Amino acid sequence: AMATQQAKYLGGNNIQLYHQGLENQSKDYMEIEGELRKAMQNNELEVFYQPKVNVHSQCIESAEALVRWQHPKKGVISPAEFIHIAEDSGLIAEIGEFVLLESCLQAKQWADNGTAEITVSVNVSAHQLRHENLAQAVGNVLKTTKLPENQLELELTESSLMENLSAATALLKRLSDLGVSISLDDFGTGYSSLSHLKRFPVDGLKIDRSFIKDITSKPEDEAIVNAIIVLGHSLNLKVIAEGVESKEQLALLDQLGCDEIQGYFIAKPLSSQDMTTMLLQQKSG
Ligand code: C2E
Ligand code: MG
Ligand code: MG
Ligand code: MG
Repeated sequence: AMATQQAKYLGGNNIQLYHQGLENQSKDYMEIEGELRKAMQNNELEVFYQPKVNVHSQCIESAEALVRWQHPKKGVISPAEFIHIAEDSGLIAEIGEFVLLESCLQAKQWADNGTAEITVSVNVSAHQLRHENLAQAVGNVLKTTKLPENQLELELTESSLMENLSAATALLKRLSDLGVSISLDDFGTGYSSLSHLKRFPVDGLKIDRSFIKDITSKPEDEAIVNAIIVLGHSLNLKVIAEGVESKEQLALLDQLGCDEIQGYFIAKPLSSQDMTTMLLQQKSG
């Protein structure tokens, strides 16, 4: 009991604040944080969409919303460079809400104007799980956009869920009660106990790109991917591979029984306009 108490006391927010303190000293960090605040006011953030296709039908079933920062001087800044700063500073709450609303509006528009009925997948960060009333925010967005709940999927990482297991389990339950799908992003890279998989109400596993990269040349990677697919299917989960860049990778994933793929082989993340064009091309056959 003592050890648990101590872990509780030392963990969570205290460690978090300590890290923030250290990082806040960096000049770059402060600069980016300030610019990011301005960027939101100036509408410099834009949502791009990357298609996910069904391995068998090769049809686009969904699209992942990926935020982009169109910096007036520096050009496009990748989320890898600013999401962690947005997380530490709390700006992620606002960015997350923007991406959620924007992508639900977009999916609803595609459905209403006859372009396509697809699901949008929105990334949710650890900070959003800790601080935001995520289920309520998601419920509100579904209500305002009138997007059917089965057309929204949330991508969460295992590690963010493992941070606070009981809170995460309760949150996942509320989200799945809303009818949205949940998928575990970057699967295989975080530390997660497999026994939690059956307790989390999740719908899909997204195999991390690092396992796909050398899948056709490294038998160990193929074995890991195969194991994840078998595990996922035995738990009735949809399995998707991210970072698919070649025909050979696709063929192997198909052979292993993977359900969906996403990656440069199909398309890079596209502006909403380019994504619309791709959906219309698919529609006209
Ligand atoms: P993620 O959710 O795992 O997204 C997949 C990343 O892999 C994206 O990078 C995507 O552009 C990239 N990718 C997709 N296919 C390929 C491929 O075939 N080859 C290679 N080399 N890369 C590929 P991106 O857009 O730079 O995003 C990086 C990460 O930033 C995301 O990883 C996600 O964790 C985070 N992120 C992006 N947008 C958001 C957002 O709106 N909210 C939150 N919380 N996080 C976001
Ligand atoms: Mg993702
Ligand atoms: Mg991913
Ligand atoms: Mg990844």
